[in-house]
Amino acid sequence: MHTLNLGILAHVDAGKTSLTERLLYAAGVIDAIGSVDDGSTQTDTLALERQRGITIKSAVVSFEVNDITVNLIDTPGHPDFIAEVERVLSVLDGAVLVVSAVERVQAQTRVLMRALQRLRIPTLLFVNKIDRPGADAARVLDDIAQKLTPAIVPMGTVCGPGTHDPRFEPSGATDVAFASRLAELLADRDERLLAAYLDGDALIPYGRLRHALAEQTSRAEVYPVFFGSAITGAGIDALVAALTELLPSTDGDADGPLSGTVFKIERGPAGEKIAYVRLFSGRIQTRDRLLVRSGQERKVTAIHVVERGAAARRRVVTAGQIGKLWGLGDVQIGDVLGTARATSDGRHFAPPSLEAAVVPHRASDRSRLYRALTQLAEQDPLINLRQDATRQGLYVSLYGEVQKEVIQATLANEFGVEVEFQASTTMYIERPSGVGAAVEILGRAPNPFCATVGLRIEPAAPGSGVTFRLEAELGTIPIFVYKAVDEFRQAMAATIHTALQQGLYGWRVTDCTVTMTDAGYISPISTAADFRKLTPLVLMSALEQAGSVVCEPLHHFRLEIPADTFGAVMAILARQQAAPHTQALRAAAYLLEGEIPADRVHDLQRQLPGLTRGEGVLESAFERYEPIGSASAVPTRPRTDDNPQNRDEYLLHVRRRV
Ligand code: GDP
Repeated sequence: MHTLNLGILAHVDAGKTSLTERLLYAAGVIDAIGSVDDGSTQTDTLALERQRGITIKSAVVSFEVNDITVNLIDTPGHPDFIAEVERVLSVLDGAVLVVSAVERVQAQTRVLMRALQRLRIPTLLFVNKIDRPGADAARVLDDIAQKLTPAIVPMGTVCGPGTHDPRFEPSGATDVAFASRLAELLADRDERLLAAYLDGDALIPYGRLRHALAEQTSRAEVYPVFFGSAITGAGIDALVAALTELLPSTDGDADGPLSGTVFKIERGPAGEKIAYVRLFSGRIQTRDRLLVRSGQERKVTAIHVVERGAAARRRVVTAGQIGKLWGLGDVQIGDVLGTARATSDGRHFAPPSLEAAVVPHRASDRSRLYRALTQLAEQDPLINLRQDATRQGLYVSLYGEVQKEVIQATLANEFGVEVEFQASTTMYIERPSGVGAAVEILGRAPNPFCATVGLRIEPAAPGSGVTFRLEAELGTIPIFVYKAVDEFRQAMAATIHTALQQGLYGWRVTDCTVTMTDAGYISPISTAADFRKLTPLVLMSALEQAGSVVCEPLHHFRLEIPADTFGAVMAILARQQAAPHTQALRAAAYLLEGEIPADRVHDLQRQLPGLTRGEGVLESAFERYEPIGSASAVPTRPRTDDNPQNRDEYLLHVRRRV
């Protein structure tokens, strides 16, 4: 049976959770429609999600349409939980991006669409809430074309928008205007259609157009737009039909080599780890032994497969499906089981740009807090727990203030630890400003380790992350320590990744390429530890030579305010270093857009209601990192690692541990 692993994505409040509920109802999985407003939905089951009416964790439910199992993955829309969305994207066959008919394209809608486009995930757009006053199909289409993509085609028309009983009427073969819009759009990317279109061949068969539409949608080249209402049910049938007609389902190759990705981890009732795996190829059975990241083999003790609404116990999970696996011990989110998929790649969204210290109310709770945060960080790797050895502080990375409240409530409710967060501080990054190289040779002072390591670091394009490679001429690879070159490369990449968490000013170093230029060992004396311990020293020398520039995170903001508050708001924006690039007057409202330092967003958000009689609407999303101005002092962060920047201190730490 074919499977479609479908993601539903949206800016918060556009109606994802309600739409999920509606789809499950339409498919007959549930008999009654739950409501987010009274907390009775299938997804959003965490108590916190119900209290706050937002999705925090992704949830998987499934239903069947035309013999295809649709695994529907509901994801959080609030920007503080973008990490959860990031994990899900890597396992999707297709997506529905929900846009509100009234609020139209919002900050997070753009962020999500950019990621979907970058990953070429086939996507249908669903314009929800056409029953609400102010719903305007033409304006939404305009907004989508301007801010998301011009390659759209409205799949029907809306009758009675803004009423209790709006309808969506799908366009069909008899709608000449629709067929010609399809032909025009699709011919752009299909030479044979283009030839027919230019010949003035008005009679391109409708079936051929629909076929081309499905093909181009599957390649994420065009985006069909549907309209409806998750509350009244309008347009839902057309959307459901399109899921199977226009999005590509897979059955994968169950007999092929094992390939799967872990995209979610949760703890069972007894505290046991459960890994959610999307299988792209092959199969996993109970009692199979799988290799996890730590290099250990783990035995699968139980499998549940998500199907028909719930996860049911099975002996095997096969390609295309999503399975919940027990027994994998230290498995982590993002782990690949078997071979990695060629297209799987790193990060699609910006990492968190804030950090805050967590302090337990009772000092005696410190070690419980540490354990609890370690568990949370394992479910959400971007929380990135950092411990400051000297000051005994515990820090977590954050996307925003809402996430803080959620972590605080989770620690209290699930772990019984009451905590306070200190004020968030910005996490800057460092980029190398030039090229630097260093080498330490085995047996030659001052190298105390039984290995030779030479490294070069150089700047790479902004946003490209860290790339590690072995220089082609590298002759000797310590194969006797590692089973294969690949394993050596992976081990070195991991060590370098860790060492780059703290650069010359204490910030994470990124957007660079690190090349291993020399490697040497003596058989059989050198060990993996020699390479692991020497590498940070060499890397820091190379970085010192290259120099680094500290960059701060900027958000793009969009602010709507009543016209008469313009002066007051502009004064505040200036104080927050947020000069708008564009301003437009629309009726009695000003629309301001620009960039603002990430750590000023919260303050602005707080002041806005007072300044604008509660009418101001602020949206913001991470945009880019910008080198800090030469006028300001370079911010630094105290190191919490063994300090490879100071050779004596580093060797002292490393030896003491031995
Ligand atoms: P999510 O945050 O994207 O998951 O959105 P929810 O499904 O939680 O919905 C947010 C709010 O919008 C809730 O109060 C819903 O009742 C409401 N809502 C969702 N869909 C519709 C719709 O089609 N019409 C109307 N009028 N309200 C809707």
